[in-house]
Amino acid sequence: MFSSTAEFKGNFLKRLEMLSGKSVSESAPKDYYQTLGQMIREFVSHDWITTNEKYLASKGKQVYYLSIEYLLGKLLRQNLINLGVEETVQKGLKELGIDLYELEELEADAGLGNGGLGRLAACFLDSLATLNLPGHGHGIRYKHGLFEQKIVDGYQVELPEQWLRSGNVWEIRKADCAVKIPFWGKVEVKQEDGRLVFHHLNAETVTAVPHDMPVLGFHSKTVNTLRLWNAEPSQFPVHEDILKYKRETESISEFLYPDDTHDEGKILRLKQQYFLVSASIQSVLKNYRKQHISLNQLHEHICIHINDTHPVLAIPELMRILIDEERFEWEQAWQITKQTISYTNHTTLSEALEKWPIRIFRPLLPRIYMIVEEINERFCHELWEETPGNWERIAKLAILADDYVKMAHLAVVGSFSVNGVAKLHTEILKKREMKQFYQLFPEKFNNKTNGIAHRRWLYKANPALSSLITETIGPDWTHSADNLKQLLNYQDNPAFLEQLLKIKQENKQTLAKIIFDKTGVTVDTRAIFDVQVKRLHAYKRQLLNILHIIHLYNRIREDSSFSLVPRVFIFGAKASPGYYYAKKIIKLINTAAEKINNDPLVSDKLKVIFLENYRVSIAEKIFPAADVSEQISTASKEASGTGNMKFMINGALTVGTLDGANIEIHELVGDENIFTFGLTAEEVLHYYQLGGYHSVEYYHHDFRIRQAVDQLVNGFFPGVNNEFEPIFDSLLEENDQYFVLKDFASYADIQGKIGETFKDSLQWQKMCLNNIAHAGYFSSDRTIKEYADNIWGIKP
Ligand SMILES: *Cc1c(COP(=O)(O)O)cnc(C)c1O
Repeated sequence: MFSSTAEFKGNFLKRLEMLSGKSVSESAPKDYYQTLGQMIREFVSHDWITTNEKYLASKGKQVYYLSIEYLLGKLLRQNLINLGVEETVQKGLKELGIDLYELEELEADAGLGNGGLGRLAACFLDSLATLNLPGHGHGIRYKHGLFEQKIVDGYQVELPEQWLRSGNVWEIRKADCAVKIPFWGKVEVKQEDGRLVFHHLNAETVTAVPHDMPVLGFHSKTVNTLRLWNAEPSQFPVHEDILKYKRETESISEFLYPDDTHDEGKILRLKQQYFLVSASIQSVLKNYRKQHISLNQLHEHICIHINDTHPVLAIPELMRILIDEERFEWEQAWQITKQTISYTNHTTLSEALEKWPIRIFRPLLPRIYMIVEEINERFCHELWEETPGNWERIAKLAILADDYVKMAHLAVVGSFSVNGVAKLHTEILKKREMKQFYQLFPEKFNNKTNGIAHRRWLYKANPALSSLITETIGPDWTHSADNLKQLLNYQDNPAFLEQLLKIKQENKQTLAKIIFDKTGVTVDTRAIFDVQVKRLHAYKRQLLNILHIIHLYNRIREDSSFSLVPRVFIFGAKASPGYYYAKKIIKLINTAAEKINNDPLVSDKLKVIFLENYRVSIAEKIFPAADVSEQISTASKEASGTGNMKFMINGALTVGTLDGANIEIHELVGDENIFTFGLTAEEVLHYYQLGGYHSVEYYHHDFRIRQAVDQLVNGFFPGVNNEFEPIFDSLLEENDQYFVLKDFASYADIQGKIGETFKDSLQWQKMCLNNIAHAGYFSSDRTIKEYADNIWGIKP
């Protein structure tokens, strides 16, 4: 890009003048940011074009990853790192009096996702490009990403997010690649040349315009594409009410739905899903036709992966194009489709399993509905042939049932691969949630344990630790994360452990400063930084954490012989705006924080911090500074988790239930390097099935629980009236669905053990080292290689 700082500076200054019409001294930091961003993007375009030409010419297999969310975060510094020019640019800018890190602050997070699912998609793009694999993302270019969270008087307040306010330097609008998406209208069926043909009449058409973003690999020439679709009015249909049409059209790509699990069943959401799917499939096929290969071989050249069920209409959409436009017979189209689509399941929470009322689905997507109906009929017929008369089985597995379209059933039936995201999750799918589907299609089910882009979450987020690692084992770990294992040779090397400790301490100081700037609270960096950052959800049990904190507070105040190893408990969590209960928990955390942080009796022992607006960019500052990683979901509920992996690779110790990928962390580091507690998944599922849990017993028999739970409603927290009654009721009246009280005692025990262990700081660092060394397994490079080899069949 530029071989020297001098060359960079010359280039930068010339462009700055052209772009802003101003000199350095007259320009503002946002001019610098724009200039630098454009320079990089233009520089990348050569490799981008070359990559695309190569893909086209080689006719090799390509994968298209369809996801309704991409939680990208900031891109500037990651792109510089990937191009290998971060140091040159940083130095060059510095000589001009410009701080690269300040420019990075100006960049808005691309927050086009809610949490884990969207972040996974972003990490996958990184690994695909770095491994030189032909894989591209398709998504929606939401004008407003996930809402911005403010905490006002302890309550969450949501503001619209505005990442596009100053434009997006990374994207290129490709108006010539726009496609049309039909909604509403009706389908006319006719006989033509001895076959049925289908015409979609009176449709309201929306134009989907792609905005392409380059996806760079780390030190590689491969530049893949993230194609984000923008919804715009089509020109020709003249509407009675043009303004209404414009508004309705644009609303399709206006907002990201801010809920990661509850299925809201809103018509606009279904419109978004079909919009994404139809635009993507049309575009994929347009590109495919350029290669002049028969559509009969589509599945040999293309794989379409659907990230959860949101893009599952890819199945009927591909059928529609093959049958209605390409004139395939049903059976042939079905074989092609089934062999082209693969599907990842992300959850077994029943409230998150997508289903759409037919009364909404059918009028909005009349032709797609017909195809789904036919898929369902043929599938039910097969079931009947297999076990005639077994209506119960058919009713259970059908795609259309009880006036709903069941999206997960469509995904399993219409794909060749169904994968879970961690070992336990996949086992639960096979043995319980999808047992009958597994019996029917055992060959489709497989596991792909999630991973994280370790180049973002360690190399970029934790430069000090990264430098130490590189000095110690050489630089290859950035490509081969497994190399981190070589660090095990240093676990009995006190000098090395001292260095780890020193780095952690510095990272804690950096975070302490952020905490002070944002909350005004001073925290002691010698205390344990105990962190729970993730979406707020009952099953993730932030409630268990805060009840335990309240208990610690009680104990310090009442028992003068009790000596707590000082703790800073740090939370970050957004609640879906409509999730009443989750918002109560946020208020509780903030209320408890207010009381505890202002009590001089405990001030040298206990602090509680809620960092507002948790998102990728702040996450990058939190993980490197954590001592303890809270992964305390009710066992069986967290499919995998990826936050747990980010903590691990930054040298934090996990306190966790045997849930999701925590189990695999436990297997890797062994009993002695993790703090596990609580019910197992099997025990939880057993209780759900057979009953036998009575939360009131735990309330009555454990004074610690009774005291903390009573304090929710007895005036202990002044000025909140009956604010926390719903929490109190969920624990006692509603029998504590998530086993918070059941797991309380073992959680309190293990927390005590954590305090004791922390006292021996070198022993603690040795445990941290073991975690870092084994975290290579959780690089998304490993995950993506598994997808590439075992599902997609793509090659570098
Ligand atoms: C990794 C990540 C998540 C997922 O965290 P979990 O603990 O796995 O739920 C959510 N949000 C952001 C911003 C993340 O970086």
